[in-house]
Parts: sequence; structure tokens; C-alpha cells
Amino acid sequence: KYGDVSAANLHHLAIRHFPLCMSHLMGTLHSERHLRHGGRQQLGLFLKAIGLPMEEALLFWRSEFAPRTPSDQFDKQYAYNIRHNYGREGKRTDYTAHNCTTIVGFSGGVGDNHGCPYRRLDETSLRAALSRLHCDDRKVEEAVSKARDGHYQLACAAAFEGIHRVPELDVGISAPLQYYAESRRICT
Ligand code: SF4
Repeated sequence: KYGDVSAANLHHLAIRHFPLCMSHLMGTLHSERHLRHGGRQQLGLFLKAIGLPMEEALLFWRSEFAPRTPSDQFDKQYAYNIRHNYGREGKRTDYTAHNCTTIVGFSGGVGDNHGCPYRRLDETSLRAALSRLHCDDRKVEEAVSKARDGHYQLACAAAFEGIHRVPELDVGISAPLQYYAESRRICT
């Protein structure tokens, strides 16, 4: 784990190091000032896994939900679940982040943004999302083509290569946490 993960630098880390399933949720959360339950779980457990301390998580989610959700309402409605994910409430289970197989398998309704974007976004939106991350054009097309064929993790690996400007990865992408760790390792 890298020790510099705080509420203040999450957006910076997201642009540089998060896989699309997480940067997409970060972007939606920031623009809509809200995420539905599936998105909060997918992103929240990932943020915990990369080393965001619980107090920083509460700070981050409270400020991202404002002003749409006032602070006192946030504390009543959402804070419990964040503490719960950190094992500080209820059965005190220390929940772990989802891997790609789980995330790819998520289905969602209108208004849900969780799941794997390589599966869930249409091609125009996928191209736009990868271009925003400054992915090399050739790799954008490779990722879109692999996603079209249902090879979502290979699409994610192609995007990784195009964003980080590296040759082919030796290993596939199996979890968002692995994507993040690899990105931190090669680009500090
Ligand atoms: Fe996230 Fe895995 Fe999909 Fe990549 S392949 S966007 S890491 S769920």
C-alpha cells in the first residue's frame, strides 16, 4: 500500500491510477453529488483497499455528497454504512474489495453506475471515457474491440497500456486493486 491516500488527493489519484470502473464512479459522484448503493459499495471498498483511512472516507463522502445531502442528513443516512464497510459496526466484518469477475457480473438498472464500464458503456461513451484519460488512440480502439467481443479484462489491459504508454502487460487485469498497484508501481 502507498501511504499518501487521503480525501484531499483522491481525485488526483483517480485520474492517474484508477481503472475505469473506479474513475467512472469518481466522476459520476463528483458531478451528481450522489451515487446509488451499488456504486457506493464498489468504490467505497476499493478506496478502503488502497489505504484510505475510515475518517478520511467519511470526510470524502460527506464533502462529495454536499450540498445535495446536508452534513447532518449524511451522518444519519450514509455514515453507518461506511463505518460498517470498515468493520466498525454490526458484525464487525472486515469487508474486502470486489475483484473483476464480481464487478463484471454486476447488472444494474437505470441510474446505476457500478459494474465494469467495458461491459456496460456503449462504444461512444467508452471511447470518450478513455480519451479523457489520455489513452493512446490505437489502444482505445483495441479496448473497444475487445469489449465488443466480451473480453472485458483484456479491454482493461489494453486501456492500461494505452494510458500508461507501456508495451503489453505480462499479466492480465484480475482486480481493480491490482490495476491500481501496477499503475503506482510504474508511474509515481
Ligand atoms: Fe474494473 Fe476489472 Fe472492469 Fe478493469 S476489467 S474496469 S479493473 S472491473
